[in-house]
Amino acid sequence: MFLVIGRQFAIWYRLSMPIYVGLFGSLVGSFLNVVIYRIPLKRSIVSPPSACTGCGSRIKGYDNVPVLSWVFLGGKCRTCKSKISVRYPIVELITGIVFGIVAWKFHGSPLSLLVAFLYLAAVSIALALIDLDTHTLPNRIVIPSYFVGALLLGVTGLFSGNFNAIWHALAGMAMLGLFYFGLALIYPGGMGMGDVKFAGVLGLFLGYLGWGVLLVGAFSAFVLGGFFALALIISRKANRTSGIPFGPWMLTGAWIGVFFSASIVQQYLSLFGFNNRF
Ligand SMILES: [Zn+2]
Repeated sequence: MFLVIGRQFAIWYRLSMPIYVGLFGSLVGSFLNVVIYRIPLKRSIVSPPSACTGCGSRIKGYDNVPVLSWVFLGGKCRTCKSKISVRYPIVELITGIVFGIVAWKFHGSPLSLLVAFLYLAAVSIALALIDLDTHTLPNRIVIPSYFVGALLLGVTGLFSGNFNAIWHALAGMAMLGLFYFGLALIYPGGMGMGDVKFAGVLGLFLGYLGWGVLLVGAFSAFVLGGFFALALIISRKANRTSGIPFGPWMLTGAWIGVFFSASIVQQYLSLFGFNNRF
């Protein structure tokens, strides 16, 4: 009897947990909109409260429900009817979906590990959009991420007795940071110091999950970025000297590593006739 209830609870939990985390994610997305708008302007992200950029009137709680408020208001400010960018509900929706997927992926992992990667997901969305907007990866987001990552991953490793993962995280941080630092020295036009500092953060998170994740995550960034740059040059939208932000590719590559490294490494090995996992 208890076993049956236990199993049903487990199934219910498996299915519903990502939905709750996703709903929470849409609230986080609402906050990320503030971060994406204010951090490049060097303004506080906590005060003053959100206001319409058209008329300055404060946005009331019932007009600040993720995605739904924008739909009900028809994409316009309640007071002055000026247009509210469709980017706001899209960021909320995407953050919600990404949080749900991350919760699904890290189901069964220690809670601190799930929180660590939800944090990385939030930072990824904010930094990708800020980099596209302003071609910078602001220190105000990148530097605290070292501490948040070290704390959450450190706690996870210590409490689960996974000291190897902690060493891998530290080694990953050093290796990816130094690798990007080397690239920035060789090719100053292509890599900025913001990329170098953020590479250390990604190395920390990816390294914790293992060498395969770190390798696939780092390598995918260059494959994606390279193809995109080539496509732009071929379509003559860019030439070799125009600056294309690399942050979004670093982030996308890193998440490919998190989600698909196991199967990518597996396929690569099977090309050479290895079938067993290592
Ligand atoms: Zn307004």
